[in-house]
Amino acid sequence: METRVTRALQATTPARLSADAGVPLPCARRILASLFRDEPPDAPLAHVRKASRERVASMYTAPSLDLVREERSQLDPFRKFVLRLADGALIEAVRIPLHRPGRFSVCVSSQVGCALACAFCATGRLGLVRNLQTWEIVEQVRVARRTLDLGAGERVHGVVFQGMGEPMSNLDRVLEAIFVLSEPSGLAIDRKAITVCTAGVPSGIRRLAREAPKVRLGLSIGSARQEVRERLMPIARAHPLDEVLDAAIEHARVSGSAPMFAVTPLDGHNDHDEDARALADLVARFHQATGVRPRVSVVPYNRIADDATDPFRRQGDARAARFLEVLRDRGATPHLRYSGGGDVGAACGQLASVTRS
Ligand code: SF4
Repeated sequence: METRVTRALQATTPARLSADAGVPLPCARRILASLFRDEPPDAPLAHVRKASRERVASMYTAPSLDLVREERSQLDPFRKFVLRLADGALIEAVRIPLHRPGRFSVCVSSQVGCALACAFCATGRLGLVRNLQTWEIVEQVRVARRTLDLGAGERVHGVVFQGMGEPMSNLDRVLEAIFVLSEPSGLAIDRKAITVCTAGVPSGIRRLAREAPKVRLGLSIGSARQEVRERLMPIARAHPLDEVLDAAIEHARVSGSAPMFAVTPLDGHNDHDEDARALADLVARFHQATGVRPRVSVVPYNRIADDATDPFRRQGDARAARFLEVLRDRGATPHLRYSGGGDVGAACGQLASVTRS
């Protein structure tokens, strides 16, 4: 049974708090800034009327997630957080070090489980349990932030919606979380440093462009060959790649920014020369239509932990090199993404703690 927290402070912005609670906007800003600085709830707040604080306290709570485990990779500085929700479900978030020292991104979940059942994804095997509430998304970032050395200048620089779940299937809450996370009196994360990754939901891509145009788009391609994509990603039957590409083109025209096309080559499944050629052609079509070139992120496959029946394997070195070579020869510029934390199940496609707690 889901426990609903309808008025969580972490789910509101100063403007909404001011309007809903009837408190002056500067007071709303200070109350939220204090919360996001992790100050005690009764810490003195200059220039905030007692009546305003009491009113907010009577209407809102500041719920938290239960940190079940923090798993530190022995391979790299990735850290995975296993978090328990009020209804007992588990979700996962990952702290990702960025190239520039002291900067981190947080990969967050947007749903418990996922309905889309992509064949290569551990979360997809769980089915959808429920959508996350706004505050449950925001709290994942706050949990990761508490592990940083803020005194040494470390900070959360970006957020990527690429954890458990399809963000476009919970877009109301995802957008609210983006507005809270980017709020100057909250965590002040630049919207350009926030990426929403989707398996390909055209209506969601268009809405993201309209309502949060600075936010970046990530698109999981699977394969740019429709028949192969359909085998790996069932959503491709409902939304063919051409339809998804049209929405991504509209996103680029509205936002002016290039999307990221992510592909995970699976040995013998979607890593043939034809797949690489089709992907390069997709990039070329996109470039021709928009004038911007998508970033092609090639993510090595991470086997699903504890699953001997996992039918997929990572490509061998020769095939991996060949895949990149074909992409380059046809004008795409692939980036081989380091997907860290593989030893603690923190890498892309491995998040499924709900079955392994
Ligand atoms: S890859 Fe994303 S959309 Fe596909 S099943 Fe996994 S969580 Fe869902």
